[in-house]
Amino acid sequence: ETTSAPNFIRNQIREEIEAGRSQKIVTRFPPEPNGFLHIGHAKSICLNFGLAEQFGGDCHLRFDDTNPAKEEQEYIDAIKEDVHWLGFQWSGDVRHASDYFDQLYAWAQHLIREGKAYVDDLSAEEIREYRGTLTAPGKPSPYRERSVEDNLDLLERMRTGEFAEGEKVLRAKIDMSSPNINLRDPILYRIRHAQHHQTGDKWKIYPSYDFTHGQSDAIEGITHSVCTLEFEDHRPLYEWFLDNLPVPAKPRQIEFARLNLNYTLTSKRKLKMLVDNGIVDGWDDPRMPTISGLRRRGYTPGAIRKFCEMIGVTRADGGLVDIAMLTHAIRSDLEDNAPRAMCVLKPLKVVLTNVSEEHEEVYEVPGHPARDDFPVRRIPFTRELWIDQDDFMEDAPKKFFRLAPGKEVRLRNSYVIRCDDVIKNAAGEVEELRCSVDFDTLGKNPEGRKVKGVIHWVSAKHGVPMEVRLYDNLFLVEQPDKDKDADFLDHLNPESLAAVQAIGEPSLATANGEDRFQFERVGYFCADRHASRPGHLVFNRTVGLKDSWAK
Ligand code: ATP
Ligand code: MG
Ligand code: MG
Repeated sequence: ETTSAPNFIRNQIREEIEAGRSQKIVTRFPPEPNGFLHIGHAKSICLNFGLAEQFGGDCHLRFDDTNPAKEEQEYIDAIKEDVHWLGFQWSGDVRHASDYFDQLYAWAQHLIREGKAYVDDLSAEEIREYRGTLTAPGKPSPYRERSVEDNLDLLERMRTGEFAEGEKVLRAKIDMSSPNINLRDPILYRIRHAQHHQTGDKWKIYPSYDFTHGQSDAIEGITHSVCTLEFEDHRPLYEWFLDNLPVPAKPRQIEFARLNLNYTLTSKRKLKMLVDNGIVDGWDDPRMPTISGLRRRGYTPGAIRKFCEMIGVTRADGGLVDIAMLTHAIRSDLEDNAPRAMCVLKPLKVVLTNVSEEHEEVYEVPGHPARDDFPVRRIPFTRELWIDQDDFMEDAPKKFFRLAPGKEVRLRNSYVIRCDDVIKNAAGEVEELRCSVDFDTLGKNPEGRKVKGVIHWVSAKHGVPMEVRLYDNLFLVEQPDKDKDADFLDHLNPESLAAVQAIGEPSLATANGEDRFQFERVGYFCADRHASRPGHLVFNRTVGLKDSWAK
């Protein structure tokens, strides 16, 4: 069936272990709590936690929380829930880069004492200017040769809040003419007079990503620090810190290609704009590519994990992954695991003229065609039914095998009926069909003729009303943020959500939030985990039935 693609990091670690070069591996997943996790993060989660699982190692969950202005406790809580929901458990307590602020500060002082860091008074703009470009070397800041004493004193005063934001930074003293711009005296600390969700107002300075990440890895004994390719150019700096500080371990950074999915944004910043502008109903709107949005849409953890296995892990930028691969993963999961039900999305009344008002029979139907561990469904059949408007055509072409005037069709699990009369309202719209039942067709073919079509239906007397939300891609183009300057909001699909009032078979009446079904002939649906409850059903369409993924 579906195969897994190569994972070069897994192969590499397997070789290391077989050759005795690695014993216990420790990985980490290091999100910044500045938004909800998306499907791209799922790739990183499955990779990091998967490696630990596979090789009997540990995987830490560490919040990379060095930018208090953009971070919130709400995001921390959501991220923890998403990781758990995907089926992973981090080793030990949740960790935060901010847990190491004291140690990082001591290490900054260490670099100063070694003559490898200095306080710079240049403005952000001047620093950029002095840094040079790929073709022009940088030039040293006039503050680069400050004494150790001055630097230690200024850093301490930065820490205690004596200076305004932007007035000073701490920089490493490395090489202003390095071909790698990351080594041209990178910034270690910035002044930020902000309230931090973990450390409160203790700090007035915050370490940069580069000064934080590798050292946090070292403190935690991370062996393989897996990150996306944007950080490849940062690796020499990552290693410079480890080589120039008395760190307890030497983790290794390994880069892989990030996931990009067509019709989908994988950037927290841009997803936040959709939320902030009210374009979607929060971070877990079922149209969002967030883990919580996919969950609410009806995705299972297994399908997301399988998708991540299918896309593999490489160093080569794989371009855009087809979203059909993601929908394939959930569709094949639900095909095997979702109970069946009949539900009519666009109801059209059918009156069976040769069935009496009192008549009632009940069919017992398997919950799933290939499994016997689902409860049997009880499907009542009565005089009045609902069928789908799309299953009737007044002027039907020859190949239309559903219902048409004078034509026959089989009701799924029940009889063959014939359409005798079409009742219209004053506006000329079809309002009701009068049909008759051939009672000699239950479980057998009609005499002397072939009836090809089978349609789904629901007893009008027993059907349960429900709201069904039909979701589609949020964007009309494959790469909504391709053009850096163009507004991705210009490419929104105005029909990404259509809500209809549907009628389902009685077995749906007791559905709880997150229960998933195949609505036969229609698609896969999931009871909304927030809005749905027995007595007030709301279903979200997860995916249609048709698989368009070509292997
Ligand atoms: P975003 O730009 O969406 O905020 P990020 O990389 O800044 O993404 P982090 O919270 O720093 O978000 O990400 C945590 C981890 O997830 C990092 O190791 C990062 O490399 C990884 N990651 C983020 N996006 C993707 C993606 N599209 N594919 C694979 N891994 C990703
Ligand atoms: Mg990041
Ligand atoms: Mg980011």
